Amino acid sequence: MSQPARVLQSYVAGSWQAGDGEGDPLLDAVTGDEVARVSSRGIDLRAMVDHARTTGGPAVRALTFHERAGLLKALAKHLDGAKDELYALSLHTGATRRDAMIDVDGGIGTLFSYASKGARELPNDTIVLDGDLERLSRGGTFVGQHVYTSRPGVAVQVNAFNFPVWGLLEKLAPAFLAGLPTIAKPASQTAYVAEALVRAVIDSGILPAGSLQLLCGSAGSLLDELGEQDSVAFTGSAHTAGLLSGHRAVVHGGVRLGVEADSLNCSILGPDVTADDPELDLFVKGVVTEMTVKAGQKCTAIRRAIVPAPMAETVVDAIAARLAKVTVGNPAHEDVRMGALASLGQRDDVRKAVEALRSSAEIVYGDPASVELVDADAERGAFLGPILLRASAGAVEPHDVEPFGPVSTVLTYDTVDEAIALAARGRGSLVGSLVTHDGDLARRVVLGLAPWHGRILVLDRDDAAEAAQAGGHGSPLPVLVHGGPGRAGGGEELGGARAVLHHLQRSAIQASPDLMTAITGRWTTGSQRRDDGVHPFRKSLAELRIGDTITSAARVVTGADIERFADLTGDTFYAHTDPVAAAANPLFGGIVAHGYLVVSLAAGLFVDPDPGPVLANFGVDRLRFLTPVKVDDSVRVALTVKEITPRATADYGEVRWDAVVSNQDDQPVATYDVLTLVAKTWPPA
Ligand code: NAP
Repeated sequence: MSQPARVLQSYVAGSWQAGDGEGDPLLDAVTGDEVARVSSRGIDLRAMVDHARTTGGPAVRALTFHERAGLLKALAKHLDGAKDELYALSLHTGATRRDAMIDVDGGIGTLFSYASKGARELPNDTIVLDGDLERLSRGGTFVGQHVYTSRPGVAVQVNAFNFPVWGLLEKLAPAFLAGLPTIAKPASQTAYVAEALVRAVIDSGILPAGSLQLLCGSAGSLLDELGEQDSVAFTGSAHTAGLLSGHRAVVHGGVRLGVEADSLNCSILGPDVTADDPELDLFVKGVVTEMTVKAGQKCTAIRRAIVPAPMAETVVDAIAARLAKVTVGNPAHEDVRMGALASLGQRDDVRKAVEALRSSAEIVYGDPASVELVDADAERGAFLGPILLRASAGAVEPHDVEPFGPVSTVLTYDTVDEAIALAARGRGSLVGSLVTHDGDLARRVVLGLAPWHGRILVLDRDDAAEAAQAGGHGSPLPVLVHGGPGRAGGGEELGGARAVLHHLQRSAIQASPDLMTAITGRWTTGSQRRDDGVHPFRKSLAELRIGDTITSAARVVTGADIERFADLTGDTFYAHTDPVAAAANPLFGGIVAHGYLVVSLAAGLFVDPDPGPVLANFGVDRLRFLTPVKVDDSVRVALTVKEITPRATADYGEVRWDAVVSNQDDQPVATYDVLTLVAKTWPPA
C-alpha cells in the first residue's frame, strides 16, 4: 500500500508547521493520485494573528511606501526564478502550461505593477494626503486636510482554488504597500501550489519577518481572532461569502470584509455587427477563449453570450466550429488545449449546473457525460468537454446558475434595451464585454451596463489585437478595478493605487497651518516660511527644509514685453495684441500679458542661474491664472519648498515648490507647483 502524501505546512509565527493528524487528501486533477494532504488542526491561529500584529505590522509600517514598493520589486524578480516549480505543480491542478502562465506570470506581473505604482503614485512617506487643503476660517489659521494612514491590523486573505499564485499575490501586493501584514489562506484544493509560492517568498528573506504567513487547510476560528483594525479579503463562492458576511466578527466586531464572489458575466454582440464584420469573429473567439482557458474555471469567464436574435444561428455555428478544434486531456501533453477541472467534485458540480441550465436551455454543443481525451483516463481525471447551450425565451437559470467550468449559454435579444436588461439579470457581474464598432451604441450600452459591472471591455477591430495581448475579457489587470457590484460581492480589488487606499484609514485632520505642515510633512499654505539668506537653489536635498523660501524682487510687465512674447511664440491672440478687441473682452477690458509670459517671467525672477544642486525642472502642476496682468503691472514671486521626495534608486530626488506670483496690490495672479529634480548632495559625492 502506498504511503499517504505529506501534510502541507503552514507558515506560522516564523516557522513551518503541519497541521495535526493525517489530513484530508488532495488529488491530482488529471490522474486522481494523491498530491498532498491538508490539515490546519492544532495550528495556533491566535499566535498567527499576534505575530502579524506585533512583528509583521510594525516592521512594514516602519518603511515608507517607496521602500515597500522596492521590496515588492525585488520579490517579483526573485519569484521570476521560481516559476518552473510553480508551473510543474500547476499540472496537478489540471492546468495547461498556458493556464499556469496566466496564474504564475500574472501574479508576478501584478507584483511588478504594484512596485511601480507604489514608487510613482505614492509618496516616499508613511502618510498619503487625500485632496487639497480645506480652508476652514477667514483668517487662514484653521485648515483641514484629509489623510490616509496605515492601520495597525492584519489582512486575512481567503482565496479560491482556481488561481493559487495570482490570487495570493494580487491581494498581498496592495496590502503590503498599505503597511499591513498578511495571513494568506489558500483554497485547500490547490494549496500545494500556494505553499510552494510562500516558501519561495519566505526563503528569499526579502519581506520583513511577520509580513506574510500562510494557513493551509480550513480557516477554522481565524475570524474569531480578528478585530476593528483587521480586514478579510475573500474570493470564492457566494455561499461562503454569505457565511462570512454574517460572521459576528464582521457584523459586530468591526472587521472589514471585501468580497469577490461568483459572477454570471456576459458578452453582448452589438446589433450593428453583420456576418461579414471582423467583430463577429472577435465575439466568437472571446466566448471560446473564456470557455476553455482554465477549463472555464474563471470567475470572469463569459457565462452568457447575448446576441441579436437574427444572428443566433450564425453565432452558435461559429462557436461550435471553434470548440470542435479544442483538444481536451492531459495538460502536460503538447497537443492538449484544455486540461481538467480542479477535482472530481468540481466536475460533479458543473454537471449539476448544466442539468439545471437544461430546464430552460438546450445543449447545442458538447456532452456532459463524455469527452474524447488525449493521453488521459476519463475515470480518474476530472475532465469535462466544452458545453454550449442555447436558452429559450424567458429563460431564468442562465442568469442564476454558475457552471464553474467550460460552459456558456447563448441568449437572444430583439432590442438594445432588452440586451441591457438581460445583462442586468446577472444581478451584478465582475466583467462584461460589448463587441461593436458603433460609437453611439457603445455609449448607450456601456451606460446601461456600468451600474451592474466592475469592468467593461468594449471590443472592436481597432483594439482587438492589443486587447487580446492584455488578456481580453477574462483577465483582471493590476491597474484596473477587479470586483463587481451585487452578486459579484460588491468588492473592489486592484485598480492601481486605489487598492492600496482601500486598506488605509482616511481621517480628516483640523489644525493650524504650522501644525498641519508638521503632521503631513508637506508645506501648508499659511504656515511659516524660512528665509535664511541662502537661495534654496543652492541647497542640496540634504540641506533643503520644508518651508525654505525665496521672495523675488518685483518686475514691471511692459507693453513691449507682451509684444515681444507674442512675436517670439506666435501666440498673437487678440487679448495680447489688439487693444480695441481686448477692450471689448468682458474679462480683460484691455491688453493683458500671456499667462505663460507671467510664468516665464516668474522663472526668471526665482532661478539662481549658476550650476548647482537643482538639476532639472520636470514640470508644473495645478497651474491657475487668477488675476489678469495688465500693461505696466508689476509681478513678483514667492517660491517655497512644499515636499521633498528622495528617490531610493538615484542620487537625486524630487522637490515640489509652491509658487505664488502676485501683483503690485498683493493679489495672486498665478499659483502653481514647480517640480524639480535636486541632487542629494552638492557637490555630488
Ligand atoms: P469556496 O468554496 O467559497 O472557497 C473559497 C475559499 O473560502 C477557500 O479558501 C475555502 O477554503 C474558504 N472557505 C470555505 N468555507 C469557509 C468558511 N466557513 N470560513 C472561511 N473560509 C472558508 O469557493 P471555491 O469553490 O474555492 O471557488 C469557486 C468559486 O469562487 C466560484 O463560484 C467562483 O465564481 C468564485 N471565484 C470568484 C473570483 C472573483 O475574483 N470574484 C475568483 C475566483 C473564483 P477551503 O478550500 O479550505 O474550503
